[in-house]
Amino acid sequence: MDANVIDGSAVSAGLRARLERELATLRRSGGAPGLASVVVGEDYAAHAYERRLRRLAESVGCRFQAERLPADIEEADALATVGKLNADPRVTGILILRPLPPQLSETALYATLDPLKDVEAVHPVNAGLMARGTPRFVPSTPASCFWLLDDYLRRSGRDPLGWLRGRTVVIVGRSHNVGKPAVWLALDRGAVVIDCDEHASAAGRLGAFTRQADVLVVAAGVPGLVTADMVADGVIAIDVGINAVPDRATGGVRLVGDLDFDSVATRAEAITPVPGGVGPVTDVWLVRNTLLGAVLQQTDLSIRPWPSP
Ligand code: NAD
Repeated sequence: MDANVIDGSAVSAGLRARLERELATLRRSGGAPGLASVVVGEDYAAHAYERRLRRLAESVGCRFQAERLPADIEEADALATVGKLNADPRVTGILILRPLPPQLSETALYATLDPLKDVEAVHPVNAGLMARGTPRFVPSTPASCFWLLDDYLRRSGRDPLGWLRGRTVVIVGRSHNVGKPAVWLALDRGAVVIDCDEHASAAGRLGAFTRQADVLVVAAGVPGLVTADMVADGVIAIDVGINAVPDRATGGVRLVGDLDFDSVATRAEAITPVPGGVGPVTDVWLVRNTLLGAVLQQTDLSIRPWPSP
């Protein structure tokens, strides 16, 4: 079987056009989105992502602010940076990039975020809203997986919501920002959901689970983790992984996903490539969440359905 290769760049262009229309509407009502990223230390991938986001945000007229903190920063100072961004009305979305150095608690940083600016839904309140199926923000990476999937199903004549009901979605990876929210999105669609992490691999059982997938989402950060023998014929395979591996042809590095693309493509109905699959959609989604943050800031939250006496 020759898989349909899902073109993430084309889907991302459509989402960007929608974002630009929505931004025009927001501006007419006086709103202005602003995205702030927080990078701690000198991680190459985090800096590259920050630069990419700046280019995208500024190209659609969204303010962008990069906070670069030293690798040895004390936790109190990192928390103070988040507090400063919370208090800045020009900032409507805050993204804390990983990896974080060991002296910083990811849990503490996430809990300090203003939930109304927490565009990746990592604050406990937003994660809870997401888990119960009423998200305030849908985190960009899992959102992009399902945006691509829905788009592919629609183009191939299927109703995305109906088609997933009762089908098996297998997620590989269980992080707070990708794997778990992907599970919640699949549950919302009425799918039967299996989530595997590194323990399934260590137990030698990963393939036993991934072979059950009608839809497979892989987000482990392990190059070529899933091979053809680990999938069923006709699977729709979404690859979140971005891994830099040595490129023998050039002597440099190249990016690959968590799927062994060439072999899985021989069995899959459809597959996302790396690069050019989930990544480009994720970036646009994040800026769109920043726009949603601006909409939330415009809303007078002191007006409540049940006012205090
Ligand atoms: P993470 O390290 O926080 O989590 C990885 C998860 O995968 C963990 O639950 C871990 O238990 C599991 N895992 C690790 N090895 C495994 C194995 N051998 N078998 C099964 N499960 C295993 O990473 P993350 O932030 O969730 O990111 C995952 C990957 O996705 C990385 O490659 C990252 O670069 C990439 N990523 C891509 C995008 C995008 O837009 N395309 C966005 C975010 C992350």
